[in-house]
Amino acid sequence: VVRVEGLRKTFGPLVAVDDVTFDVPPGGALGIVGESGSGKTTTARMLVGLEDPDDGGIALLGEPRASGWLSRARRRARARAIQMVFQDPYLSLDPRQTAGGCIEEVLRLHFDLSPADRRRRASELMDQVGLTERNAAALPRQLSGGQRQRAAIARALAAEPRVLVLDEAVAALDISVQAQVLNLLTAIRAEREIAYVFVSHDLGVVEYVCDDVVVMFRGRIVERGAARTVLSAPQHPYTKLLLDSLP
Ligand code: ATP
Repeated sequence: VVRVEGLRKTFGPLVAVDDVTFDVPPGGALGIVGESGSGKTTTARMLVGLEDPDDGGIALLGEPRASGWLSRARRRARARAIQMVFQDPYLSLDPRQTAGGCIEEVLRLHFDLSPADRRRRASELMDQVGLTERNAAALPRQLSGGQRQRAAIARALAAEPRVLVLDEAVAALDISVQAQVLNLLTAIRAEREIAYVFVSHDLGVVEYVCDDVVVMFRGRIVERGAARTVLSAPQHPYTKLLLDSLP
């Protein structure tokens, strides 16, 4: 459902992402791990179109991202197909709107629903991520960190994406809340055929969520394979180092 080939991005003299190639099948989950500054976030941002690659290609749903002129409707459908959840939920939630309102906004943008249907759909989505009507009526700052991240996930799901890019989506949460959100993500993936690209520096979390993993080091992929295999029998010296540095 997503295929990335020879992706490259430089910032001045710095090569942030270099020759990155991977693909994620429909409903699959790929982990991208690596130390801070290894190019994970830059790769994620290019995937969702927040950053343009200097070189290489990204194909989404079998079509290259930059396929020349597209009608407005096609462009919108493409944007809808890939959604991102950030470490900081405030990057996707509007602080001046209620959590429910943020979700309704996405529904208004992408679907032709009556206000009553929008409200009903938003409340179903809130329910799916374990939030209540009361949470829906709250402003993002009135929610706990875990609830806020759940609302951000509901907002991403509102677009009915085929791919969800999660960039350190649980990193800021307490360990027990982390586990709840990870369970939620696993349940969502089992229920809908959404592919995950799961960026994390936490190998345990990646092993829990992902089928496959790529390990990035200084902008390049140095190792790839089934998450369980890579994490239990790492081949590359950097992966070994990364595993050894775990608490
Ligand atoms: P972290 O886990 O700390 O978020 P990361 O693996 O996600 O790290 P990136 O954020 O992709 O790494 O950054 C890769 C490199 O590119 C870093 O050296 C970073 O400083 C640099 N970089 C990222 N964005 C920019 C930018 N907009 N301008 C200049 N340099 C940037």
